[in-house]
Amino acid sequence: MNKKTLKDLDVKGKRVLVRCDFNVPMDDNRNITDDRRIISSLPTIKYLIENGAKVILMSHLGRPKGEPSPKFSLKPVAKRLSELLNKEVSFTNDDRIVSKKVEKMVSNMKDGDIVLLENTRFRKEEKKNEVTFAKELASLGDLFINDAFGTCHRSHASNVGISDQLPSAVGYLVEKEIDVMGKALENPKRPFVAILGGAKVSDKIGVIENLLNKVDSIIIGGGMAYTFLKAQGLEIGTSIVEEDKLDLANELLKKAEEKNVKLLLPVDIVVAKEFDNDTEFKTVSINEIPENMMGMDMGGESIRAFSEEIINAKTVIWNGPMGVFEMENFKKGTDAIAKSMAESQATTIVGGGDSASAVEKAGYAEKMTHISTGGGASLEFFEGKMLPGIAAIDDK
Ligand code: AMP
Repeated sequence: MNKKTLKDLDVKGKRVLVRCDFNVPMDDNRNITDDRRIISSLPTIKYLIENGAKVILMSHLGRPKGEPSPKFSLKPVAKRLSELLNKEVSFTNDDRIVSKKVEKMVSNMKDGDIVLLENTRFRKEEKKNEVTFAKELASLGDLFINDAFGTCHRSHASNVGISDQLPSAVGYLVEKEIDVMGKALENPKRPFVAILGGAKVSDKIGVIENLLNKVDSIIIGGGMAYTFLKAQGLEIGTSIVEEDKLDLANELLKKAEEKNVKLLLPVDIVVAKEFDNDTEFKTVSINEIPENMMGMDMGGESIRAFSEEIINAKTVIWNGPMGVFEMENFKKGTDAIAKSMAESQATTIVGGGDSASAVEKAGYAEKMTHISTGGGASLEFFEGKMLPGIAAIDDK
């Protein structure tokens, strides 16, 4: 990688601002329900403490619409982080993010101390990437580290704007994300299989187009498969479909053929009367989808075919569920993909978001080579785009 990494900076005695991704889910009582993102940030934070830096952490949480909102305070994160590190993490508790009070807290820091700023999205300038806010943030530190892969596809003040103000590098998490995913895309062990699912084709057009130049097979499942099935002239009942993408689906099918990429679609599916877990459902061949039923999951034959493709692969990347996996009756296809990937000897990469949580829930997380912490970011990475949060970091 041509970007500076942690080890390229001398951090001893320096005030190091670190953009983390602490955007963790919480319940109604503000208890953190999944702390994976906090855990993923620990290697960088530990390195900085051990090397005598003063560590100033910042992150966004949720969507507070550019103004303070107690519901989105990072206070619970400070507590959890402190437990995980077994060390005090001082929370600034200041809705302005940067203020005289915060400046004072930072100037009192000793080497190895940690301070966590309040949610950067409490300031409307954050998402607009306003230089004034970037400068305010930068005034608190000597160096900047971007370790928030989940927001690398966004240009905000706390990741991109601030990079222009201070010497910068990527942290261990961002380094690992781009290392593993970059290698898979640029120099994959073959056969290389991509599995794409989720609701819409329109979200994945760029990804499919880029991957058609790189993979040996593409498996398309989930809601987006019905647009492809309809484009091939099949009756899809009341299944989710993007009518305005039928031509595009045909073009992609043609391109796959021209490029000698095997494109697999479900051969049987689980159909239901309504979009509801407790409705009547059955498995049918894709040639027999009843007019008044919708596809909710893939059937056993499709699972077998897709699993075989995965077992024979040397590199597998996956983004998007294979059915309505939030409903107990329609999560079999998604779970089966997770299981086949876990059992395969291939390099296995799971894009963030729904597929990552499906893998976690099914208990296969440890069996994957890499689970990305960024849903949107990993998708844009698969699209072959240079992510702004990474582009803004100093070159080596
Ligand atoms: P995305 O955000 O595009 O990755 O899509 C994820 C969503 O797609 C999940 O909430 C799934 O429930 C939904 N989904 C997957 N398969 C289907 C389907 N056959 N019909 C409707 N929604 C689906």
